[in-house]
Amino acid sequence: MTSTPTSIPIDDLRRQISGEVVTPDDSGYDEARQVFFKGFDRRPLAVVRVVGTDDVARVVSAARESGLELAVRSGGHSRAGYGTTDGGLVIDLSGMKALEIDAESRSAWVETGTTAVEYTIATGERGLVTGLGDAGSVGIGGITLAGGVGFLVRKNGLTADDLLAAEVVTAGGEVIEASEQTEPDLFWAVRGGESNFGVATRFKLRLHEISEIVGGMLVLPATPETITGFLQAAEAAPEELSTIANVMLAPPMPFIPEEAHGQPIVIGLMAYVGPVDQGESVIAPFRALGDPYADMVRPMRYPELYEGPEREVGFASGTNFFTDSLEAAGAEAILEHLPRSTAMMKAVQMRVLGGALARVPNEATAFAHRERRLFVNVAAMYMDGGEKGTHDAWVDGLAEALGKGDAGGYVGFMGEEDEATIRAAYPGATWDRLRELKRRYDPDNLFRLNHNISPAEG
Ligand SMILES: Cc1cc2nc3c(=O)[nH]c(=O)nc-3n(C[C@H](O)[C@H](O)[C@H](O)COP(=O)(O)OP(=O)(O)OC[C@H]3O[C@@H](n4cnc5c(N)ncnc54)[C@H](O)[C@@H]3O)c2cc1C
Repeated sequence: MTSTPTSIPIDDLRRQISGEVVTPDDSGYDEARQVFFKGFDRRPLAVVRVVGTDDVARVVSAARESGLELAVRSGGHSRAGYGTTDGGLVIDLSGMKALEIDAESRSAWVETGTTAVEYTIATGERGLVTGLGDAGSVGIGGITLAGGVGFLVRKNGLTADDLLAAEVVTAGGEVIEASEQTEPDLFWAVRGGESNFGVATRFKLRLHEISEIVGGMLVLPATPETITGFLQAAEAAPEELSTIANVMLAPPMPFIPEEAHGQPIVIGLMAYVGPVDQGESVIAPFRALGDPYADMVRPMRYPELYEGPEREVGFASGTNFFTDSLEAAGAEAILEHLPRSTAMMKAVQMRVLGGALARVPNEATAFAHRERRLFVNVAAMYMDGGEKGTHDAWVDGLAEALGKGDAGGYVGFMGEEDEATIRAAYPGATWDRLRELKRRYDPDNLFRLNHNISPAEG
């Protein structure tokens, strides 16, 4: 890494790149520098809308040679705004969406600028699916490299567990295909180690034959009994069911009765993969927890899970951790804390784990929280960045009341964190192995706009 960044001749870059190079002088600059969280007002020297692996390698080399900060963006959902930079270069992969489905081998090569919903609609048309997260606009790039705890986590494990190979441009500009056979160390590292090891341009993902599911949203009044009851039912359910329980104050949505607006609710997102009649009986214990405010759980095609609008957000404060269970005192704490937050939206999200996720050994990938039974994410969303301190304090206070302590979390949901938090996300021997591999693949820490793993010394 050059210690003092030098500017680079943009005309030279434009000549080398097949895609578009957007600079402050271009009319599309303001749009090009935007990421999902609208509060990040950073001004890159250039946003490069790459169209292929060669473009990516050229921008990586330009950043390495100039010392300019390098941001890599697929879907732009990083809560820390790592998909943009002040004064540096952005590799924007969102134009790279090629998808080749091989139905016979049940796999697909997909470029990493594809979003979850784009990928799922295209593969879903063939009755084939790879499990991704709950937001359709999230990029395949970011979620897969972080791990990917999604709608099929108990049935099929992480998104990264379905990764069969990744094409990666390393800090040296080399293009490597990493898989169990070809480059096993790099392949291990990219399944959870985020963008620390290079720019992933294409993934080969395993597809599962899933067309119809029983899924959708169940909205219940939130009480200590319904919250803990929901988690117990999710734990007792067969692993064909994965759930996401969001405890929040009811927004004024048309499908929620007016008298419930502002009241605590559990929004349960359900995905049961199996015969419809069995699905109905698997969902029955959840429905029996209380009089649902809304029950939209029904037989559906899998991609329908992604229907519905996503709202505009400025910033999010958040913290998350892995644990094993939530007792009644925890549920009471959630209900006490929710009304104290002044954020536009605040929620505690809980995902019961186990199943296929837990059958992969911790050492097999850089994601090493496999034995934990429950994932908890506390979040507050708001438009005014000046309120950050207030919302951070609320989030941390509630997480402590839920017993977070030193428990490690999931990098995918993290914002900007200190080293101790990042380290705790990689428990056991994982951290040291990641640091060794960082030294091998990115010794000068070119890829540092992420939950950074510093190269091992020596
Ligand atoms: C509304 C919302 C819902 C979410 N739901 C889920 C969920 O259900 N399950 C879950 O697991 N996660 C979920 N997440 C977290 C999400 O998976 C991570 O934030 C992920 O990193 C976002 O990926 P992205 O490509 O959209 O973001 P970006 O901001 O583009 O990237 C995020 C990070 O990954 C790096 N990166 C992105 N693409 C590449 C690439 N191709 N090569 C190298 N590095 C790259 C970036 O440099 C950055 O550090 C959610 C996030 C949001 C905002």
